Amino acid sequence: MLDLRTALLCCGVLAAGGCASLPPPPPPPLALEIQRDLAYLASPAREGRQIGSAGRDSAAAWIARRFDEAGARPVFAEPCMARHPCPPGRWGDAFQLPEWAVGGTGVNVAARVEGRDPALRRHVVVVGAHYDHIGRLSQYSRDPATPGLRPGADDNASGTAALLELARRVAARPAPMTVLFVAFDAEELGLFGSRHFLSDPPVPAERMAAMLNFDMVGRMRTGRLTVRNVGSATWWRDAVERANTDSLRIDLQRGGGSSDHVSFREARIPAIHFYTGTHADYHRRSDREEHINYLGILRVVDLAERVLRDMPPPGPSS
Ligand SMILES: [Zn+2]
Repeated sequence: MLDLRTALLCCGVLAAGGCASLPPPPPPPLALEIQRDLAYLASPAREGRQIGSAGRDSAAAWIARRFDEAGARPVFAEPCMARHPCPPGRWGDAFQLPEWAVGGTGVNVAARVEGRDPALRRHVVVVGAHYDHIGRLSQYSRDPATPGLRPGADDNASGTAALLELARRVAARPAPMTVLFVAFDAEELGLFGSRHFLSDPPVPAERMAAMLNFDMVGRMRTGRLTVRNVGSATWWRDAVERANTDSLRIDLQRGGGSSDHVSFREARIPAIHFYTGTHADYHRRSDREEHINYLGILRVVDLAERVLRDMPPPGPSS
């Protein structure tokens, strides 16, 4: 069997054309669940998780089922009442999108794992990733003249798979603080899911100590990772550096990004964004699963898990 390192070495040695005949490298065993989630979400049957599509609905149902299997608890007070099918039970929360942003109904999907430290469990860390993508909405694509489906494997099936992996780990071994795992809808159309979440939060925003956002974490190259918005709290820089026991080459950026962490930053909640960088397939039909670096996603989840477990408790004012 060909292992990942051999395939990469071949690519380096043979350069152009040399890899075409090689089968894609298998994911490392630890990443198999991540691959299962990503493959489901990025499948053409999910229709690029476009707002209002049946593919988006089945993606939402899949995420709810995976939260349930992990042993996490639902978050919302009421079952989701939407014209479009919501996940059953209290996993989903529907909201209306304005007509100028294509209209339709968005559905956030969320789960909760209670903190294990009685002194800290009233504080909540939000871990988020948007699960929507642009599907056939060519006006949001980088190749608008070409019809077809943009599957969004990196953007953001990768982050959603990372979110689900972290939820499994934290459900199995809770963190000191309570964690809310939120798969946001309608990020691509203008951060609508995260803005709705904060406008009607399942726990008061004052209790949200921090937010970790995964958006495009599937294309790690040479151990490089960007962590954006570390300027949103004095302790982020130290927290990320301390957690980097894996010697990732991390570019810590004070601000930046345009994903759901911005909604939290605007609400004065310290929020960072894990990001493995843009690429030629961004918002194009070629953002497909075959380009995903599963070992890279695993390394991002490992780092985020260490940050989450070692996060400083909020000060007395919070
Ligand atoms: Zn994205």
